[in-house]
Amino acid sequence: MPEVVDVLIVGGGPAGLVTGLALLTAEPHLKGRVVLLEKAHYPREKPCAGAIGGRGLRILERLDAVPAVPSVPITTMSFRASLGEVASQVGDIGRVVRRIEFDHALAEIARARGLRIVEGAKVDAVQVAGGRALITAGGASYDAKIVVGADGVGSAVRKAMGLGAGTMRAQVLELDTEMVAAERTRSALHFDATDRGLTGYYWDFPTIVDGRELMCRGIYHLRLADDDVDLAARLGTYLGTLGLDISSYKQKRYAERGLDFTEGLSLGPLMLTGEAAGIDPITGEGIAQAIEYGALAGEFVRKVLHRREELERWTRTVHRSRLGVDLRVRRRLVRSFFGAQRASMERLLLDPVSLRCGGRHFGALRHDPAEVARSMVRIGVTWLGSFA
Ligand SMILES: Cc1cc2nc3c(=O)[nH]c(=O)nc-3n(C[C@H](O)[C@H](O)[C@H](O)COP(=O)(O)OP(=O)(O)OC[C@H]3O[C@@H](n4cnc5c(N)ncnc54)[C@H](O)[C@@H]3O)c2cc1C
Repeated sequence: MPEVVDVLIVGGGPAGLVTGLALLTAEPHLKGRVVLLEKAHYPREKPCAGAIGGRGLRILERLDAVPAVPSVPITTMSFRASLGEVASQVGDIGRVVRRIEFDHALAEIARARGLRIVEGAKVDAVQVAGGRALITAGGASYDAKIVVGADGVGSAVRKAMGLGAGTMRAQVLELDTEMVAAERTRSALHFDATDRGLTGYYWDFPTIVDGRELMCRGIYHLRLADDDVDLAARLGTYLGTLGLDISSYKQKRYAERGLDFTEGLSLGPLMLTGEAAGIDPITGEGIAQAIEYGALAGEFVRKVLHRREELERWTRTVHRSRLGVDLRVRRRLVRSFFGAQRASMERLLLDPVSLRCGGRHFGALRHDPAEVARSMVRIGVTWLGSFA
């Protein structure tokens, strides 16, 4: 007989764990009654550069759930394009973690708050009947009133909803190397958009692996057309400019999904959150977004349980939230960033004021209204230019 549960969360990354944490913080009496199924066993690897912006960290602080793991504090954004290079010192905007440690520690916090986490439970079937969902995973089955699909880019819940991979898919490849002599600071997130053949960029982020100060480097390519690029060859060339040989490092290949605003994010008792729904297509930033999704989903599910909300309104709730507005702006800017307006966009980011505004947004720091106004006007003019 399937176990009957009110809320079943699929996936124990930041989106799923924060959904559980937010729900249990608001409704502590649900302790032990909210179940999260995770296919892997913690500590588990997740290919990711691990840069978490302040927007995500502030939510974890509010939930009193900031994992105490080794991290590199970030104060600076740095950007290089064909037209030049700039670095902006912004302030305390985030930190870089290793996901193998961060997600494990977050799962332990959630477990201590009463989230029932079942590890080694890969969801392999999702059926919907009579307004409820029947889920099978790891040899067990569950009959759930609400299923939150937080199972990332290859989401089984998303597939059960009849959704495809999405229109905003990116290919990503990353590896960890030592620092090179030219890198004098360990507090900057560096983005390199010099390769115009790429609808994306290279990155160099400081990281800490088993106490060693390394750099996580990688390549992000948004597949706007059906154009696979040779990520390893391109990243190899980029690393070559730094005097590094790609064949000396373990490569991790993965995919990412940006939010597509034409898709519905719920169907019957099923709803999607985090990267199963979609994150930022321009940069592939998704940890803070997954945390934001989780906080929103936890509150939404609470209202559904109290019959103050209908599950079918989840898509609208996401689109109208601060997260949704942020992702919509980023989605609209994809064409400008990677299309005919690319040079103008690069010039915009090479302006230290605009880069600082971007850094403040990443870090959830207070903005200078005059700087924001100046950047918005420049972005608006560039965006309108993409229709010319
Ligand atoms: C190479 C790379 C670098 C990145 N760097 C950054 C960065 O520096 N900063 C940033 O903000 N974002 C970054 N991202 C994006 C970020 O990693 C993701 O957007 C983020 O992890 C999404 O969180 P999530 O909780 O939605 O999904 P995930 O973190 O993917 O978690 C999903 C969970 O679901 C589990 N799962 C999957 N299928 C099933 C199943 N069938 N049954 C049960 N469990 C299942 C998985 O094991 C996993 O634990 C990067 C992504 C990549 C690929």
